[in-house]
Amino acid sequence: MLNKAEHYKFDEPNLFDQKLIEEGYVFEGYVKQLIASWQDAASFDYQAVFETDHLYARLDLAKHRDDGSIDIYEIKSSTSVKKEQLQDAAFQALVAEQGGVSVGKIFVVHLNKDYVRDGDVEPHKLVAISDETIRVRSTMREISDKVSEAVELLAREEIDESSCSCLTVGRARHCNSFEYFNPNIPTPSIYNLPRISGSKLAKFLADGRFSLDDIDLSEVTGQQKFVLEAHQNGGQYIDSADITNFFSTLKYPLYFLDYEAYGSAIPPTDGLKPHAHLPFQFSLHVLSEDGVLTHHEYLAEQMGLPIKLIEALERFIGPTGSVITWHKTYENSRNQDMAAIYPSKSDFLNDIIDRTVDLEDVFKTGYVDIAFGGSTSIKKVLPVIAPDLTYEGLDIAGGTEAMAGWAEFIVEENSAKKNKLRDDLLAYCKLDTLAMVKVFQFVEELL
Ligand code: SF4
Repeated sequence: MLNKAEHYKFDEPNLFDQKLIEEGYVFEGYVKQLIASWQDAASFDYQAVFETDHLYARLDLAKHRDDGSIDIYEIKSSTSVKKEQLQDAAFQALVAEQGGVSVGKIFVVHLNKDYVRDGDVEPHKLVAISDETIRVRSTMREISDKVSEAVELLAREEIDESSCSCLTVGRARHCNSFEYFNPNIPTPSIYNLPRISGSKLAKFLADGRFSLDDIDLSEVTGQQKFVLEAHQNGGQYIDSADITNFFSTLKYPLYFLDYEAYGSAIPPTDGLKPHAHLPFQFSLHVLSEDGVLTHHEYLAEQMGLPIKLIEALERFIGPTGSVITWHKTYENSRNQDMAAIYPSKSDFLNDIIDRTVDLEDVFKTGYVDIAFGGSTSIKKVLPVIAPDLTYEGLDIAGGTEAMAGWAEFIVEENSAKKNKLRDDLLAYCKLDTLAMVKVFQFVEELL
């Protein structure tokens, strides 16, 4: 690949990636404020660079000690220390030491998960510093071996392009070069089987079996069976009893509910912790037993805790009837968060949680189309079931875009631009719940 960079499909950072990058810079700003308040601030150095013949490392933060050694500070805007962060720090320590600098302590600087904003952000409360010297040192041999392997690979004039090692892992871990190295994998393939284990993949690989045509039902489990059956049936797997069972749990009126929430490393308003999700919008379609469909919605006009959103929900969601969501963990988590912020609303919110069912479940065990590609995301299901209902053409067409759009909306002073953003936000969220209604009605008719 050294001379074939054109074969790698570089993805532009998406909105979510960009947001993470920007939040990282904001957090680093608070770390700088904190360090600046320390007596030994002058001994800290941002973006120090270490190099060897083959390696290059730029440290987030280094402290220069009197004896010539350094302490390493890896800055991460997460609320806990993760394995890959230890590996990053290990790489930096490795390069520094191979460059002839002695490394003393190794720290990971991260967000304090217990911090609750109250007024201006206070860096000494927001920032947590973990001494990870022992854990980082314990990974350095492994990182050193991997670095040597990578250097050796990069130095080769030619490499084996007949396949690559990601054949043994699920598609979530494939990079953009998977098809380049493995052009003969059919569609659909064993990689469309949900949650397939490494050992099962290894077995199919050893037999040279990539097509679903070559897999027997006795060899797969859980959701994999339904995907394989859909393939074997020529497209769909339908378990009427399972779907009937889902419908038997429903009580009218049906409330199709979807939240949009703003997540941010630094709490954007008082009362929130780092990376809390602040609901700012909902769309609610209500379907009565006689088929009448009504729509309600709410969009916060300014940054703040969601009391008005809850009050709007109280106006529109009555005391009986099922609440239908897609991937209910998300909506239920937002309801739990809001109940924790407003104990006086917890009865209402907990009742909603109790009444919530997950329409996605139907597409895990009751109805599987091979065209879903092994996924149960509504973004995969909707184009197959209701191709006329599309997100294409919307100026806001995804959760991260909605977050970015709302952040712009609440500070926009130009009324024309503000109205456009409002319309875009409302249209996107409304489509999310209308999509659920259409999918629900499709399954109902199927029965
Ligand atoms: S798919 Fe995996 S093994 Fe293949 S090129 Fe990408 S990262 Fe490397």
